Amino acid sequence: MHVASMRELVDILRAERHLESSSYKALLECDNESVVAYLHEQAREVAQGVFGRGIFVRGLVELTNVCHNDCYYCGIRKSNSNVERYILTTEQVLQSCQQGYELGFRTFVLQGGELPRDKAQWLVELVSEIRQRWSDCAITLSLGEWPREVYEALKHAGADRYLLRHESHNAEHYAKLHPADMSLTNRLQCLTWLKELGYQVGTGIMVGSPWQSLDNIMEDIEFIEQFKPQMIGLGPFVPQHDTPFGKSATGSAALTCKLYSIFRLMFPNALIPSTTAINTIDTNGRIKGIMAGANVVMPNLSPASVRSNYALYDGKAITNAEAAEGIAQLETQLATIGYHIDWSRGDFNQCKINN
Ligand code: SAM
Repeated sequence: MHVASMRELVDILRAERHLESSSYKALLECDNESVVAYLHEQAREVAQGVFGRGIFVRGLVELTNVCHNDCYYCGIRKSNSNVERYILTTEQVLQSCQQGYELGFRTFVLQGGELPRDKAQWLVELVSEIRQRWSDCAITLSLGEWPREVYEALKHAGADRYLLRHESHNAEHYAKLHPADMSLTNRLQCLTWLKELGYQVGTGIMVGSPWQSLDNIMEDIEFIEQFKPQMIGLGPFVPQHDTPFGKSATGSAALTCKLYSIFRLMFPNALIPSTTAINTIDTNGRIKGIMAGANVVMPNLSPASVRSNYALYDGKAITNAEAAEGIAQLETQLATIGYHIDWSRGDFNQCKINN
């Protein structure tokens, strides 16, 4: 397609927040530098219209690397016997939150592998304790698939948001990434429950996961378009050497950034993190993500002693501006592009669409 018509597609996407399938594909395939730069520029403008130049920060607590699932891509899958397993104690989690609160964080994200079902009550008590101690903070959970009653109990205990990437909306592709006891149907059912229960919900994919085609990504775009999540989590796939995909190719930072921009134009006020994974494969990845329209970063608040054990993929960035203690470094990095940290809770709909 001609450069002028490609730019027109970007304009249509910005104005209508929707494109025909074939046009999304044309944008994803386009490698003309000026068109890609225009796409990012338009997305950045839209993000700035909603959020100004503030970037929300979320303090990430990696609750556990114990997991009963066996996803083929993930370094903490249950079959990986080279991982030293941990579950943070209540005290460790509360200390991490306290440290985060003192640094200025007003959102805590508890993320982890899928714990044995008898840990549900502990999780509920943990959320309830965090809610009581820090009533002005948002609590986000990213703890995988649970029965509806557990999501409900966690919500009543005080959780506000839930991140659960659908990973792939194509059942065949999903089945290539996961063992037979996991299903796309159940993942989607969980997302529906979370929405019904009133969580702000996040979903998304790994960009460049093994066997993923552009057509698969188109299906993901269509799903996200109709599901309308409040948060959209996208990061490149990064191989982990102890997994069946240890020798697969790494996902692309450029394609990830294109998707940040496309989703920003589709959903001006969505919360879109510039993820640790993009910063892992590209030392300037976080900044590139923000320049493409992302508006959230999630520094690590986990106790330093467990960080290297939460090894989802090889080379995971865990120090400096990636770590909560490195917040000054993050501020400096953001300042170089004229941005700053927005320390508010950063709820969906807190910001108005001004464009
Ligand atoms: N167990 C929960 C779940 O499945 O949603 C939360 C923890 S899981 C480790 C968080 C996310 O890490 C997954 O949704 C997946 O997209 C991402 N992830 C896992 N392995 C990865 C890899 N090798 N490269 C990039 N991202 C990965």
